[in-house]
Formats: sequence, structure tokens, C-alpha cells
Amino acid sequence: MYSYRHGFHAGNHADVLKHLCLIGTTRHLMRKPTPLLMVDTHAGAGLYRLDGDYARTSGEAAEGVLRLIDAGFKPNQASALVPPSQAAINSEANLLEDYLGVIASFNTQPGAWRVYPGSPFILARLMDEPARAPVHDRLKLFEMHPTDAHTLLDNISQLDVGRRISVAPEDGFASLKALIPPPPAAGGSRRALVLMDPSYEIKTDYAKVADSMQDALKRFATGVYLVWYPIIPRPEAHSLPRRLKTLAQQAGRGWLHATLNVGAADDGRGLSASGMFIINPPHPLKNQLEAVLPDVLAAMSEGKGRGAGWAVEAGAA
Ligand code: SAM
Repeated sequence: MYSYRHGFHAGNHADVLKHLCLIGTTRHLMRKPTPLLMVDTHAGAGLYRLDGDYARTSGEAAEGVLRLIDAGFKPNQASALVPPSQAAINSEANLLEDYLGVIASFNTQPGAWRVYPGSPFILARLMDEPARAPVHDRLKLFEMHPTDAHTLLDNISQLDVGRRISVAPEDGFASLKALIPPPPAAGGSRRALVLMDPSYEIKTDYAKVADSMQDALKRFATGVYLVWYPIIPRPEAHSLPRRLKTLAQQAGRGWLHATLNVGAADDGRGLSASGMFIINPPHPLKNQLEAVLPDVLAAMSEGKGRGAGWAVEAGAA
């Protein structure tokens, strides 16, 4: 039933946009020393080889994250190894370096980019930083593809995370309902971040995303929700961000909508644009994205065709 394999796409322009938003948002939430529940409803396999068959066949990482490296952008070596200082979190220019630093921390041989971490490992890395680990965040991962679910479980079991990370080969849309609102932490506060990143290989995924967000906002209006979607000529894809914006506005919540289009290939094949819609985004994220997306676009759109551009729009609560 599921033919999509994220291994072909890992590290492409869509992952770059998604993971920039994910890191910027998560870092901000982790400034508070109260536990955070993180839910990745469509987790994928977790780790991907950049020098393996899938990446070589598709060439998508070479046109994505590796273009940033080739363009000379440097990882922030401190990103994944030590807790970022307050200044680093607030710095508008540092999101790209922070993102590359997190990726670099999975590639220990200098100069060799062999592994790309998917969202589960990016989140696991952030929650396991020395300053954050004592806070005991939790991460719930869902993946329906049997092979990728198995690989994810294998990959996660290599980490020394105890029971703080769980993997379930179950439907992420349905499973989310039981997880929010999260139980209150000591002191009574409830905090959750949800990444919803389906493959949209089934047309009904668009409606499921919107319905899940509507339900989630009813259950837990103060959760932070990140939705990725492809920008393709399909009515459902066009209407999804509009519907999410309406849901956020009706619930009286702030929102942020970021899009990145690297320009269509000459033959018109492949995905050239995608968007992230975030409900209850951290305030600094808009400036952080605006500071780095011009560089990201310049590196990834070079030599590509028409339509290249980026946009970040936000609305207050
Ligand atoms: N979030 C991952 C990341 O950023 O590294 C990538 C996820 S990939 C775009 C989408 C994944 O969702 C695929 O691995 C697919 O098998 C899985 N999937 C599809 N439908 C699902 C469902 N209903 N519940 C959970 N996983 C699903």
C-alpha cells in the first residue's frame, strides 16, 4: 500500500526547509526548563545514507543540503555538542549554521557527508543535549511503512534514551488523538510540539491533515503544530495552507507560513517547491527564516528554471 520511501528524498530542498523550521521551533521551546512532549506522526526511517543507492539514484540530497555545503556554508560545530547559548538561540543569522551543525554531528569524519538525520534523529539529538537531557522530554514516533518502521526502531534502539523515545508502526493521524493534551508536568504546565509530515501519496492525506489539526486545536489549542506540504498543481495542495490559516485564526492562534521554491527543472519533473505551516510558532522564527532563506535559495536554485523564490508570512494570535 505504501510505496513512498523517504530515502530517495532525504536532504532535499523540502527537508532543508522542514528541518530549519523544526530546529528553530524546537530550540525555542527548549529554552524553558519544563518537559516537552514531541510527536512525529510520520517519522520515516530516521537515518539515511547520503552515499547510498537511494540518494545516488535520486540525486536529491546533492541538489539540496549538499549544495549548502558546496556553497561554503559552515556548520556551527557547537550546535549539537553543547547547549546553545542564549545568544545563539536569539541570533537571527544562525539558524542555517545551527541546522548544518546538527547534520554535521551525524557525520564525524571531517569533510565527509554520509548520513542525513531525519526528523526523529534531529529531535532526539536536541533533547539529548547535555543542558536539556535532565529535563526529560519525550518523543513519540509513528511510521506505517513496515520496512521503514523496522529500520526506525533499529536505529532508535542504538540510542541510550531509555523509555523517553517510543516507536510505533501505527497510523500517526489516529495516534495523535490519544496523546494530546499531554499530561501536566510538575508545576502543571502542558507542552507539546507536533510534526505532521505525510508523504501525501494518498490524496486523502490533505483532508486528514486539516481534520487532525482541527481536532488537535480543540483538544490542545496551545500546542505547537508544524505541517509540511508539497506545492504541486493539485487543488488539495493549494487549499491546505488556506484551510490551516483559517483554523488557526478561528482558534485565535498565531501562525507562520514559509515556502521555498528552488525553481522547476527543465523537464518539469520532480518536486520544486514546498511549504511549512506552523501554528503557535515561536516569535523569533520569522526573522530567523528571513535571515537565512535568501542564502538557501541562492545555493539551491542556481542553474534551475523558473519560479524560484521564498516567502515567510505570519499572523499574530
Ligand atoms: N518526517 C520525516 C523526516 O522529516 O525525516 C519524513 C517522513 S516522510 C515525508 C513520510 C512518512 O510517513 C513515510 O515514511 C511514510 O511511510 C509514512 N506514512 C505514510 N502514511 C502514514 C500514516 N498514516 N501514519 C504514519 N506514517 C505514515
